[in-house]
Amino acid sequence: MNYNTEAVVVRATAYGETHTIVNLLTPSGTVAAMARGAKKPQSRLSAGVQLCVRGMYALYQNRGMGSLNQVEVLDARRTLREDLERAAYAAYFCELVGTVAEERPNGSSAVYTQFNGALDRLTGGSGHGQSGNATGYETAPAIVARIWEAKVLRMLGASPTWTRCVRCGAELVQGGWYSPEEGGCVCGSCKMADDTSGIRRKGLALQRTLPRVLESFSVIPWERLGDVRLSAESVQTLDQVLRTQMFDYAGLSLKSREILQSLTEWENS
Ligand SMILES: [Zn+2]
Repeated sequence: MNYNTEAVVVRATAYGETHTIVNLLTPSGTVAAMARGAKKPQSRLSAGVQLCVRGMYALYQNRGMGSLNQVEVLDARRTLREDLERAAYAAYFCELVGTVAEERPNGSSAVYTQFNGALDRLTGGSGHGQSGNATGYETAPAIVARIWEAKVLRMLGASPTWTRCVRCGAELVQGGWYSPEEGGCVCGSCKMADDTSGIRRKGLALQRTLPRVLESFSVIPWERLGDVRLSAESVQTLDQVLRTQMFDYAGLSLKSREILQSLTEWENS
């Protein structure tokens, strides 16, 4: 069966001397395909098998792995391979989506849309016209990553309503206390009740606006998020909260996120 689909390359693995196996995310889920000869410089497939490229892919599917016949690149996203920091984040975004997306045809178009939004935001205003979807916002890659994680957690049903106390349901207007044990934030009164009764739980204080920030990251579509700026301290808190939530409540532990982590620590030391 031959079919055409829009897709983004989320993984590219060399196969032998000249071939590449591409994992594509399509609006209806992931699919793997063999791109024969794609590593030859003159191959008409080579431009379309790079990580993060969005294009129209002509695939042939019989039993087993499909093959890639043709590709028309819609958005090359070169920045996401040429800029080292962005490339590291892009690799992480791809690994994350590869873990959460269903196989074609059971995938959801929401995952596809949100993933493209994440890559476009990561490209920032640096698309230089070659990237049709560059957003014009220079959001720090670390913030783009936190937004993408919040969205992934929400899509997986692994995050609470961040603006409500997970224990009593009260609205968190004065910040809150992230409780890994409860998978969400508790309010000041619930925290105080713990303290007075001598219950000690692990937790992390969230600055006043952070529950609202987390909730808007989770629900507001990329195109309506506007520019996002946060203090380094807030970004670090969000990093800890989301990392814990991803690991404990979504079972996600990704190598590329650990690499990013060590990169950041190295930069800050
Ligand atoms: Zn409460």
